[in-house]
Amino acid sequence: MSDGSKVLVIKDQRIARYGFGEGHPFGPDRHDVFHNELEASGVAAQVVFVGARKASCAELAAYHTHRYIEYVREACKSNQVMLDTNDTPAFVGLFEAAAWVAGGTLNLVDGIMAGKAKRGFIPIGGLHHAGRDHTAGFCVFNDCGIAAEVLRADYGLQRIAYVDIDAHHGDGMYYAFEEDPGIYIADIHEDGRALFPGTGHARECGKGLAEGTKLNIPLRPRADDKRFLEVWEKVEAFLEDARPEFILFQCGADSIAGDPIAHLQFTPEAHAHAARRLCAIADRHCEGRIIAMGGGGYNRDNLARGWTAVVRELAAKGT
Ligand SMILES: [Zn+2]
Repeated sequence: MSDGSKVLVIKDQRIARYGFGEGHPFGPDRHDVFHNELEASGVAAQVVFVGARKASCAELAAYHTHRYIEYVREACKSNQVMLDTNDTPAFVGLFEAAAWVAGGTLNLVDGIMAGKAKRGFIPIGGLHHAGRDHTAGFCVFNDCGIAAEVLRADYGLQRIAYVDIDAHHGDGMYYAFEEDPGIYIADIHEDGRALFPGTGHARECGKGLAEGTKLNIPLRPRADDKRFLEVWEKVEAFLEDARPEFILFQCGADSIAGDPIAHLQFTPEAHAHAARRLCAIADRHCEGRIIAMGGGGYNRDNLARGWTAVVRELAAKGT
């Protein structure tokens, strides 16, 4: 197996700390729940584990405003305030944990762009609700957006695809890049009339020069794998036209049936299918380069099986 065939998987207790308390849907146990399943399934033997690192303020600022980064740093000096209106509490250590998650995703970017591997996965990344200047929906620093900006600024890529099958619309990504023609976004999610954040209408397809570079596909609550596979065809056609140089894949497991927050009815096979097909597209257009980020998923069994299904595909298709 050559170096380029490896799949890098982030395993690091410092990203596990990105959670909002025992018993919280986004609790700090999610990291270990996933890694335990990866071991039990045998998939762990096919990957290379790597640690995270703490993203610097300059790296966070690739996507976020300096003012917002300083706001989070100050707010996380105590356990007193909410970072957004109602979902995301500040606590001592959260700034650091969020910076470690972003640094984990950047470790995958750097490793892949250095040719150490073609594919990577981070379990606690995919924090797609955070905007350039605000926290939202448990998401403080948007590692997806930071990765996209770093791939452009540091590595000179011009066409980056972001694919999101989390139950929630990836509003942090969509609105940050709505007028940016270099970021191609395909997002399958539960209809915003039924679920936070309430956005991601099919008519939201990018603005100005970026019109047509975004694909939002809202699904009714209870949509299942059959419906997923139907609309997935549109995602593939969109990506073939986009001819991206790198794929970022937010594979939130809250779209799997039985999530306590969302109402879609996918099985882990939907996640496996998406990963399998994205690897094939990455091989055709991106020199194989793809990073999957765990995203949401609040039923522990679902996130363990959904994310493991994704990593199994990343490993199976390594060339
Ligand atoms: Zn979600």
